[in-house]
Amino acid sequence: MIPGPVDIEDDVLEALAQPAPPHYGGEWLEIYVEVVDRLKQVFDTQNDLFLMTGAGTTGLDAAVGSLMRTGDKVLVGVNGFFGRRLTTVAENYGLHVLTIEAPPGQPLDPEEFSRFLSAEPGIQALAVVHLETSTGVLNPLQEIAAISHRFGVPIIVDAVSSMGGIPLEVDGWGIDICVTVSNKCLGCPPGVAPISISERAWEQMDRKAPRAHGWYQNLNVWRQYAADWSEWHPYPTSLPTNSIVALRTSLRRILANGIEAYYDRHVQAAHTVRAGLDRLGFELFTPAECTSPLITTVRRPPWMDLADYRLFLLDERHIMIAGGLEALRDEIFRLGHIGRAASEEYSQSFLSATKEYLLRNGQRFPDGGDRAD
Ligand SMILES: *Cc1c(COP(=O)(O)O)cnc(C)c1O
Repeated sequence: MIPGPVDIEDDVLEALAQPAPPHYGGEWLEIYVEVVDRLKQVFDTQNDLFLMTGAGTTGLDAAVGSLMRTGDKVLVGVNGFFGRRLTTVAENYGLHVLTIEAPPGQPLDPEEFSRFLSAEPGIQALAVVHLETSTGVLNPLQEIAAISHRFGVPIIVDAVSSMGGIPLEVDGWGIDICVTVSNKCLGCPPGVAPISISERAWEQMDRKAPRAHGWYQNLNVWRQYAADWSEWHPYPTSLPTNSIVALRTSLRRILANGIEAYYDRHVQAAHTVRAGLDRLGFELFTPAECTSPLITTVRRPPWMDLADYRLFLLDERHIMIAGGLEALRDEIFRLGHIGRAASEEYSQSFLSATKEYLLRNGQRFPDGGDRAD
């Protein structure tokens, strides 16, 4: 029940165990095209979409490095660990990094982007995290993207933990470069980083030196191969074909009853777990109005030894949850309601294990009862 990597469904694991087909030719391209088409449904986009090999950060690195040249100004939203990571990616490309910050647990304020863009000329792109996994805060992406359009500045979005799990309309909201990864809401092992690129982003890349940064993570190279080798090999390198076959299995499952039905699983699971934690006297770290159903972040009660609690869950109940990151390390714990873990079974097991832990530690519950189910 960590917020990624996810616990993987059996049919996806079975798909992974098949012999790996070669990454080119007609038979393979059918699989590849199906996966790209299904991802475009999940992204809700008609933009170009590539399957980069690597972690989610591979795609973010490619987005930042392709859209800008050394010395360009980029405006990054920072309200947690992954926003901060985006600033490091940009700094390492030699960009001039400007930030809009909010404290951990609070969302970014779209108005601040608007004020900043009015006051500071020459910003070449915005970069923001949709769902800040370190705190569970869901940033107001649609509003921030609308502002980026108003100022004609392309926006890069880290949707690593949110894509496929909650509504996100790449075309409807005007997300220029959107990055996710296989091992969060897409329900697969790590290794594939889908990335979509809008016409506006391509236009900006055309204006910049096309080969300013590297080769594999240079999106212009990907566009060139998609055009030149479209008949047999529309990407620059080999692909992790069995990971992509597994992704096809997972995408078929995600889309089987419509993506809304898949989103709804997360809503149900979050509701069950949050209501149960509330009955047990826990307090959420991120207020309900600025979070998503995918990640629950919970304040550590003063009496609780987080390391001991997590060890109890893992050793005695085989449930893995996550702690906080950086300054929140000993202050919060985090639960993911994604993939296989977004089920009544997982939710109830977690709640009954937590109740037992509280009882063992002499805790009583606010309503005087001992219900956790
Ligand atoms: C997990 C995560 C990342 C990092 O993904 P990797 O696949 O480890 O590179 C980046 N951003 C967010 C919001 C995440 O949740």
